[in-house]
Amino acid sequence: MELMEALAQPNVSARRRFDRTKGVLLGSECGGCGLRSWPGRSVCSRCGSADLAEVELAGEAILISSTRVWVARPGLDVPYMLAQVWLAGGVRVFGHLRGRSEVRAGSALRVAFATNSAEEPQFWFEPA
Ligand SMILES: [Zn+2]
Repeated sequence: MELMEALAQPNVSARRRFDRTKGVLLGSECGGCGLRSWPGRSVCSRCGSADLAEVELAGEAILISSTRVWVARPGLDVPYMLAQVWLAGGVRVFGHLRGRSEVRAGSALRVAFATNSAEEPQFWFEPA
């Protein structure tokens, strides 16, 4: 994909971030350097290549850090826990964390998905 074509792709906020029916997060992988990103990108943040493809990301993760959120956008009950995790394969993702009392930095997590499209959040991380 040429750069100008890549820049004409939907904005990152308009791209699919997951496939709930398959139970996977969707990101991008650079054909130039192999960098994987979530959410998916049109242009690689490492090498500038526009040769990116949508990929399914691993569902296993390691907790990096977490924090309690007291102010949320409409539709989310507070407080809730927000986590920064490393997915297997080296992609960093922010998402809700459930079952926090059981986990610490370095704990093994897995991604889980809502059973319907009206539920918020649509995915979260929980102890593996
Ligand atoms: Zn790249």
